[in-house]
Amino acid sequence: MPEGDSIWRAAAELHKALAGQTLRSSDFRVPRFATLDLAGWTVSEVVPRGKHLLMRLLAPAEAAPGALTIHSHLKMEGSWQVYAPGGRWRKPGHTARCVLRTATADVVGFSLGTLEVIPTPDESRVVGHLGPDLLGPDWDAEEAVRRLRTAPDTPIGVALLDQRNLAGIGNIYRCEACFLAGVHPAAPVSAVPDLAGMLTEAKVLLEANLGPGRRITRRTGLPGVRGLPRPGYWVYGREHQPCLRCGTPIRRAALGPASGLEDRIIYFCPKCQPSPPADATEIS
Ligand SMILES: [Zn+2]
Repeated sequence: MPEGDSIWRAAAELHKALAGQTLRSSDFRVPRFATLDLAGWTVSEVVPRGKHLLMRLLAPAEAAPGALTIHSHLKMEGSWQVYAPGGRWRKPGHTARCVLRTATADVVGFSLGTLEVIPTPDESRVVGHLGPDLLGPDWDAEEAVRRLRTAPDTPIGVALLDQRNLAGIGNIYRCEACFLAGVHPAAPVSAVPDLAGMLTEAKVLLEANLGPGRRITRRTGLPGVRGLPRPGYWVYGREHQPCLRCGTPIRRAALGPASGLEDRIIYFCPKCQPSPPADATEIS
């Protein structure tokens, strides 16, 4: 699952390329919208909502007033790319699901998990279930904590990924936030001493990665740990490497329902994040 910062960056790039531009052509390569033609429609804005992208368009001046939204979700493999008009695509053409052309850019969506066009007033149907967005203008920590607490027995590592509680956290930030809070990902929500503090930490990590360059969560030291670590991750992807707080080898395990294999993998320090309950099965 993509992280919220990836979606935020994708939306910013698409907004820069498309906002204020009138489409010269549109090509939806999914059966449901194969005959839809949005030529003449103008993109008003592109906004992220959790891991969803919303491209909002206004009807041509000569047509009846209307507003449509191209709603997409990248899932595991999807991406949007911006090219100069006629530019050579960097992905195979058969994976393209949507091609939007303006006077200044070709914008192509590849391998999108979700792609649909809906009336803009109906957006709440596709993103209304989302909890507060960590990167959204309306972030509400109290509401996110309230939603998390409605299922106190759920493992915190599962609850953080559930976009109905809060939107924007993928597997990387889930693992890193649990480490920084000293909480095992399989610990129940009710056992997390400072939920609000944990979410604040996750928000800081996400916000620090909105600029260009690779994602980094480890850019400052830890209390009680001498020296600055090299930039990177605290625990994610660091199986068998020493914990940067205590030196214990980082472990990798599976957690939660087997819906998406990628999202089940957790990384943690068994010493700094103690008491893994029985349902965190070691797979390494
Ligand atoms: Zn440790």
